[in-house]
Amino acid sequence: MADEANTSGNGLEFDEPGGLSRRSFIGTAASAGVMLGVAGAVRMPFARADRPAESRPARIAKNLIFMVSDGMSMGTLQLADLQCRLKRGRASNWVSLIESGEVTRGLVDTRAADSFVTDSAAASSAWSTGVLHDNRKISWAPDGSLPETLLMRAKAAGKATGLVTTTRLSHATPAAFCVNLPDGNRDEEDRIAWQMLERPVDVMLGGGARFFDPFLAEPGVADPFEVVRDRTQLETSRDSPSGKRLLGLFSRSHMAFELDRDLTEEPWLPDMTVAALERLARHPDGFVLQIEAGRVDHAAHYNDAPGLVGDQVAFDDALGSVLEFVGGRDDTLVVITTDHGNANPGLTDYGQRGIDGFEVLCNAQRSLQWVVRELGREWTAPALREAVRAATTIDLDPEDVDLLLRARRGERVDPLHMRRAEYGAIGQVLANYSKVSFVSPNHTADFVEISAMGPGCELLPGFMRINDVHPVLVSALDLPPTAATEAGAEVDG
Ligand SMILES: [Zn+2]
Repeated sequence: MADEANTSGNGLEFDEPGGLSRRSFIGTAASAGVMLGVAGAVRMPFARADRPAESRPARIAKNLIFMVSDGMSMGTLQLADLQCRLKRGRASNWVSLIESGEVTRGLVDTRAADSFVTDSAAASSAWSTGVLHDNRKISWAPDGSLPETLLMRAKAAGKATGLVTTTRLSHATPAAFCVNLPDGNRDEEDRIAWQMLERPVDVMLGGGARFFDPFLAEPGVADPFEVVRDRTQLETSRDSPSGKRLLGLFSRSHMAFELDRDLTEEPWLPDMTVAALERLARHPDGFVLQIEAGRVDHAAHYNDAPGLVGDQVAFDDALGSVLEFVGGRDDTLVVITTDHGNANPGLTDYGQRGIDGFEVLCNAQRSLQWVVRELGREWTAPALREAVRAATTIDLDPEDVDLLLRARRGERVDPLHMRRAEYGAIGQVLANYSKVSFVSPNHTADFVEISAMGPGCELLPGFMRINDVHPVLVSALDLPPTAATEAGAEVDG
């Protein structure tokens, strides 16, 4: 199943623009002036001069906690907040922060160097290096240079570093914060895993054991690491006096969706967040930590509203743990954002129908991935009805069952061509019950929210391209410039 392959979970990959080379893109844009084709217009607005000048923060941040809900459309933020208000009687942590006025906020245009719609690799590389990247590239700039990544810059400045994610650790968002991958792309996760082991990242917690274990089995490779494999071992590691690097590999591939998680085996995102913060906070010169709720993106690709909200709420609970950590301290910059919208979910029916629909969503027990795996190859009407009922309490009506079986046979049942995979069809059928519908199974070009608090947050522009986040981080932490990053700065000039 393509679902485990990468961020474009449904196998509906973004097609790279064909025909024109990168150089001729630039040439076209430069020579055609205002008569640009659309392909040229992708690159045109990103001249280096557009970027805000780096300025000095009022105070220097010792630590940076960079929180990413991957693929979070604004509807995802809203649905999770509504669930928090209904189930817990209070707003989500993120919306509470916004409500309080304690955060500096901005809108981010997430475009990649070669695409209006970004992927996670280009987005994370832009945050990490300050250079706009092409989709699928991991801190390998369009001009072929290898700009130094944020974690390696932080390490060079004497800070501890960490990555926490619910996807494979070798997935694009954590990878681009520490790895440079020349002559390749995000799919080469064995290469990425090897670099992550070689590079001095102090804490790495997530999934992806299948890419790390073959290396760890080689003589000596595991020696610098304290390796933990489940929730109990992670808990025990919190008291460990070990000076070793902490490596948590809690799943062969991605970690489970929050709705499907085995509570005794896998830690959830707040567990990993607390463990990482405790370990990193021992470091006298501060730390840089990325925390990613990576499966929010996958649930959006699957058009799975309950799965999406489950993982977004876990992200929000991780934010709660971060807020506990920074409470009373004034030395930590916290950035909360996403790398792009995905599928743009929205509750979209009025009055009682919308209320009842949202209750259906809140009562779901399992993800759509669980439904599809439960069915396996046995897509019969009774099995389908039973799996959907078990996951969501929804009783599919016969017409919906028939439509899904036809979709499974490859018939076109949706006017939108890209919604051809079974997940999209189930997601849209369930929208008849939950009233949460999706625009597509792919990332979107929407502007996204960024919120920041702590020293340096005042540097955040109100509106920015995604690589403009990077100089804010660097200035807030007062990281010294490097030869590599200076070279990188020439890229889009
Ligand atoms: Zn992403």
